[in-house]
Amino acid sequence: MKKIIIIGGGAGGLELATDLGDKLGKNSQAEITLVDKNSYHLWKPLLHEVATGVLDEQVDNIYYASQGQQHYFEFTQGTFTNIDRQNKLVIITDHKDETVTIAYDILVVAIGSTSNDFGTPGVKEHCIFLDDQNAAIGLRETLISKFTGFCSIIDEHETSEEDKIRIAIVGGGATGVELASELPHMVEAFGACGRNKMCSDLLDVSVIEATDRILPALPEKTASSIAETLQKRGIHVMTKTMITKAESDGFYPKEGDVIKADIMIWTAGVKAPDYLKEIAGLESSRSNQLVVKPTLQTTRDDSIFVIGDCAYAMQDNGRASPATAQAAQQMAKVCYENIVRFLNNQSLKVFKYIDKGTIITLHDTAQGVVKLIGKNEMSVKGRFALMIHRLLYRFHQASLLGIFKAIRFASASKVMYKAKSSSIFTNRD
Ligand SMILES: Cc1cc2nc3c(=O)[nH]c(=O)nc-3n(C[C@H](O)[C@H](O)[C@H](O)COP(=O)(O)OP(=O)(O)OC[C@H]3O[C@@H](n4cnc5c(N)ncnc54)[C@H](O)[C@@H]3O)c2cc1C
Repeated sequence: MKKIIIIGGGAGGLELATDLGDKLGKNSQAEITLVDKNSYHLWKPLLHEVATGVLDEQVDNIYYASQGQQHYFEFTQGTFTNIDRQNKLVIITDHKDETVTIAYDILVVAIGSTSNDFGTPGVKEHCIFLDDQNAAIGLRETLISKFTGFCSIIDEHETSEEDKIRIAIVGGGATGVELASELPHMVEAFGACGRNKMCSDLLDVSVIEATDRILPALPEKTASSIAETLQKRGIHVMTKTMITKAESDGFYPKEGDVIKADIMIWTAGVKAPDYLKEIAGLESSRSNQLVVKPTLQTTRDDSIFVIGDCAYAMQDNGRASPATAQAAQQMAKVCYENIVRFLNNQSLKVFKYIDKGTIITLHDTAQGVVKLIGKNEMSVKGRFALMIHRLLYRFHQASLLGIFKAIRFASASKVMYKAKSSSIFTNRD
């Protein structure tokens, strides 16, 4: 039986494993194994909500082992480190820190991306990156411990400007903007738990962007309207501010004074993990992504497919498809069809990325554009936009769990959040 190994159970990889399991695993036409360094899947576009306590990772996770049991694939927990192409083996480090090899006939690499510090001195040492669930949970713990420590100070005296908690976020893309917009609400929720001196006025949040505007993926008008909303909520938006180094007291821009910060977060740009650059003699891009043909097979090895953020898939417009969940999901669908075709010696499909728009959530509202048929686009705003953004997540759940289970899952999340409403965490669903 052919062995298909998928490395990475994220937005793309888990949907692919589920589809292949249902199609090929169920009828024993192939043996499918998913490998991930974590034991459970969490939807990455909501990591900023995990970090700020809006989303509870205990409620909104999917365990790979249980998903595999229900959808006919195996799960192995381990960290992928290398590929032996000659012997068709993937090399992983398992939970006991031992090196293990797994044989494959077809390999899919779907390990996503990490933050890119562009070699800026001090960033690795002093900044928090929002790369995965562990980082998001770590950031939440840092914020809570900062707020708790702060409460004991303000309980004792009247507060002044110097008392403010300064949080600086570098990167005016979706991650930085969405994270910034949640922070004032997190503080308010914290204050509502008996710490009544704690309110968003005591927070000093900055979003720092090197170019002349935030959110380059959106039309200028929409991006500046979002910048206005942030500013109305007390968040500083600093554009044309190029950070040249980070030190323990804050960020140092190319021009002007140090931007002092108690918590420093880096969300400027993504790259594929560094070890992909040289892996197994495969072709890679400047951002370490593995270069793929239009069929999503690597340029130097037809038995290796790559999907999601770590794939460099050139499009007809001369640009690579973006590192987004919608691109990863679209690639997963084409990769699924191509693996089935590959096994049946049929010609493979070509991946063409379809941009369906971008919506940015701002805690209790959202704003963005939705692309309609025929390249027209429609601006969306408010609760309606928030609902569409949420649908991306609900569709993802539906494709993993099936529509009825996804509805039950969504309702269960709601009940759990209500049951936990005495905690600082607030759900906006
Ligand atoms: C805060 C935030 C907000 C975002 N908002 C949006 C949005 O609104 N819309 C949108 O389209 N996109 C959004 N994105 C981007 C989106 O999350 C990613 O593009 C998408 O998740 C990429 O999917 P993927 O399958 O390539 O990788 P991922 O979803 O990142 O999954 C990668 C998987 O690989 C595993 N893995 C990594 N390394 C290894 C290893 N060495 N060994 C084993 N397993 C490994 C990880 O544990 C993970 O499960 C957002 C991202 C962030 C951080």
